[in-house]
Amino acid sequence: MTSISWTGFSKKTPQERLEHLQSNALLSPEDKTILESASLPLATANQMAEHVIGTLSLPFALAPDFQVDGSIYHLPMVTEEPSVVAAASFAAKLIKRSGGFKTHIHQRLMIGQVALYDISDKDNAHQTILTAKENLINMANQAHPSIVKRGGGARDIWCEDKEDFLIVYLSVDTQEAMGANMVNTMMEALVPDLEIMTQGKSLMAILSNYATESLVTAECTVDLRFLSRDKDQAHRLAQKMELASQLAQVDPYRATTHNKGIFNGVDALVLATGNDWRAIEAGAHAYACQDGHYRGLSQWHYDQEAQKIKGKLTLPLPIATKGGSIGLNPSVVAAHDILGNVNARTLARLIASLGLAQNFAALKALTSTGIQSGHMKLQAKSLALLAGAKEEQVPTLVKQLLQEKHLNLETAKQLLAKLS
Ligand code: NDP
Repeated sequence: MTSISWTGFSKKTPQERLEHLQSNALLSPEDKTILESASLPLATANQMAEHVIGTLSLPFALAPDFQVDGSIYHLPMVTEEPSVVAAASFAAKLIKRSGGFKTHIHQRLMIGQVALYDISDKDNAHQTILTAKENLINMANQAHPSIVKRGGGARDIWCEDKEDFLIVYLSVDTQEAMGANMVNTMMEALVPDLEIMTQGKSLMAILSNYATESLVTAECTVDLRFLSRDKDQAHRLAQKMELASQLAQVDPYRATTHNKGIFNGVDALVLATGNDWRAIEAGAHAYACQDGHYRGLSQWHYDQEAQKIKGKLTLPLPIATKGGSIGLNPSVVAAHDILGNVNARTLARLIASLGLAQNFAALKALTSTGIQSGHMKLQAKSLALLAGAKEEQVPTLVKQLLQEKHLNLETAKQLLAKLS
């Protein structure tokens, strides 16, 4: 992608932003029409879930200019939370000037499990399964031959003895899909043979959302001069950001909020691309607890010698670009188009980078000005709109509200009445 100017993008109207994207060849006329119409057709919604009576729209925004592994991407973000997109865009700008994000895909496999119980000789059952490994893998592949044709399929099988259960795990290369349905099909296909082999009973056969074989790491370094123009202040801020990262390792109350900030970014892109955000959330929170303590998913280290702060985030990201409802929702299709229809691996790299950017912005704000100063303006804007202010009245009302001691709807209404 070529270099595009994003100066003033935040000041444009939504229509002007769409035109900016189109004039820079980042948006097709079809996708522009989809985003302008801002709706999921009811007939399509009715195909996606049951008992449908309507649709719910959310803001579809763009965080431009993320440099990830040397390429530039513009990230669609679906979120209702004020300041999230602005924070991500701000962080992306600083991180790009410092060299951008570097990412690493550890593996991209999904895991399924069959939980067996009532087994009298677990050691023997375990051994029998391992001896039949190749047969079981073939059996799983025969249950879903289309994924094998696409270059994927079952890869490995192993067992674990856990209290009353012998649990059989299967790892599957699901290619561009998240793979819930294909893995579930494979696991169910294995049940009859596993019951015979172990002389036990199957309790359930299902995909696991603890996607420890779909890990992705994003890293970045930010030059100290971008933290503050004042050298001493930048130094102190870098020290505090490292401390904030340590705090999230030792205190679950902070770790939860630290990770929520990461998910402000992660969820917004996961949602925009039609992925299953419950699956991503469940897997990542379990991963945050991998050693028995819930910890921050990212870590920051201040390298005083290099005058840089270095961040790293690892997440399980079983992300899809095919399957589920991805092809059905027109706005999701537009999101994939804006991303350049990257594959699932690249999409996972972008999501991890966005999570790290969001985390950087949150930690920087928290350890310097505090989070509230930025939020107050946005809160005042929400209150002005809720009080019924017209578009042209909003700037004045926001200014007046910010001078008030307590921001609330009543005050907004009183000030608006004086304005009107
Ligand atoms: P699908 O059931 O939609 O399967 C993926 C589809 O994508 C297949 O039909 C496959 O076609 C097609 N496809 C096209 N191109 C590719 C490609 N290059 N690589 C892989 N597949 C391709 O979705 P998933 O099995 O991925 O399941 C995801 C859905 O399941 C989500 O909607 C999720 O919410 C839901 N779900 C999640 C659960 C969980 O997380 N625990 C549990 C149950 C459901 P073909 O068959 O021809 O290869």
